[in-house]
Amino acid sequence: MKLVIDNRTGYLNDYYFQTLCLLYFPGEKFKQNDTSDNSAYFYLEETDKENHMFVSHVVLSSGDRKAEGHFSGGYTPSIPMNDDFYAMNALGKAFLEAGNNLFGFGLPWGYITGLRPVKRAKYYLDRGYSAEEVITLFESDYNVSHEKSTLSVETALLQQKMLADVKENDCGLYVSIPFCPTRCDYCSFVSYSNAKLFALIPEYLEKLMRDIRDTGDMIKRLGMNLLSIYIGGGTPSILDEFQINRLLKCINESVSINDNTEYTFEAGRPDTVTLEKLKAVKANGVKRISINPQTTSDFVLNEIGRKHSVKQFFDAAEMAMNLGFDSVNSDLIAALPGDTEVSFKQSIEDVINLGFDNITVHTLSIKNAANIRFVGDGYYDPEGDFARASVEYARNRLGEAGYKPYYLYRQKNTVGNAENTGYTKQNKENLYNVLMMEEHSTVFACGAGSITKLVSPNRNEILRHAFPKYPFEYLREEKGLGFDEAEAFFSKYRKDDIH
Ligand code: SF4
Repeated sequence: MKLVIDNRTGYLNDYYFQTLCLLYFPGEKFKQNDTSDNSAYFYLEETDKENHMFVSHVVLSSGDRKAEGHFSGGYTPSIPMNDDFYAMNALGKAFLEAGNNLFGFGLPWGYITGLRPVKRAKYYLDRGYSAEEVITLFESDYNVSHEKSTLSVETALLQQKMLADVKENDCGLYVSIPFCPTRCDYCSFVSYSNAKLFALIPEYLEKLMRDIRDTGDMIKRLGMNLLSIYIGGGTPSILDEFQINRLLKCINESVSINDNTEYTFEAGRPDTVTLEKLKAVKANGVKRISINPQTTSDFVLNEIGRKHSVKQFFDAAEMAMNLGFDSVNSDLIAALPGDTEVSFKQSIEDVINLGFDNITVHTLSIKNAANIRFVGDGYYDPEGDFARASVEYARNRLGEAGYKPYYLYRQKNTVGNAENTGYTKQNKENLYNVLMMEEHSTVFACGAGSITKLVSPNRNEILRHAFPKYPFEYLREEKGLGFDEAEAFFSKYRKDDIH
């Protein structure tokens, strides 16, 4: 889209303006000499520095439609903010007005562009502000709807409880299996999904197990305590039961596991789940499993190119429930092509009736690497009404059924600017999701496409080490994150504490 920025202040960079545009124009690219029908013009000026007074003017256009928004004056935030806030507020309010005038609908998350709104809510709760004050901050200062403000604060309050006993040297471990039986149309994840590439799995496992042993050794040498293990993908249950056994035994021998260690295996695609595999998973100490249908409509599954049936999901779910895992999770996606109000509601009912402990409701997000594209390419919910209504319905219905939100994140280019929320029955929260999503603690990762994040004790610094995205490249990688690098990162903070 064409973007013209006349920013006469020292606040906010061009990237911020682009991110703001994506809220109303998901999936847009910002290229020079752009020929698309969409454009945005931003004017921002500070008129009185001492009193944080600004003038902003935004013009948005789409095809032959055009609309404007204005802001002029100052604003007193409900909670003291840094100087950037005032510029963001002036610009954000004019942008929302222009967008509303152009498209005829507001944005549930106001002008918050960040992907982790709960982190913001928790930040203020941790500093002693009340839930009501934080809700006011979201509603009045960031123009977030009442529903999303209370959702953020409710989620943050539950996270506060979950994280109360998590210590500085606690950490998580993620193990990546980036292979899937076939590729779903909406997926942008780098995952190998054809028979020829499956030939790499044995070699991949050998390398992965070497990395797991090295990582286990590093965790011990760093004096860290492992709270949670998560084996994700891709589709970990694409491995056969012998491979599953080898992998889990390797993990069990490489790290310290006790009764309190959370241990999750994301089976994912129901068409890969067998009783033998589930038994192998359970016998090796895994307590939590995920079986993900995304929808319980065969029609929708077909529309999204997810090559399994609803019956396969119910069969896999029944096997998992009968084996008595501590916790079973299911993922759904709102606003999938072909889904309707009736079929989405039925999906929610089905996972509630199965008695699952965690239900995660994602919203469809359109990525470049996926096969599904946004409007103009045939997607039917361009303004996201259905997406917003679906996640709202899920929140209310799951709330009635006793589920509470415990983690939440947003993605760019999500239909309807809606969010992804993990719901849980009481005391069944998955800690890994929160440690990772909120960047609260260090998470070591092993495997292609995964990222180790070392989080400093004060959470102000994160050191990332990304493994190569593709299994083929991963196999060639000689060395991952070394002990010396990790030790240097943490020792810096130990020294800081002494001075
Ligand atoms: S199973 Fe999951 S990771 Fe694999 S292709 Fe489908 S959506 Fe992507």
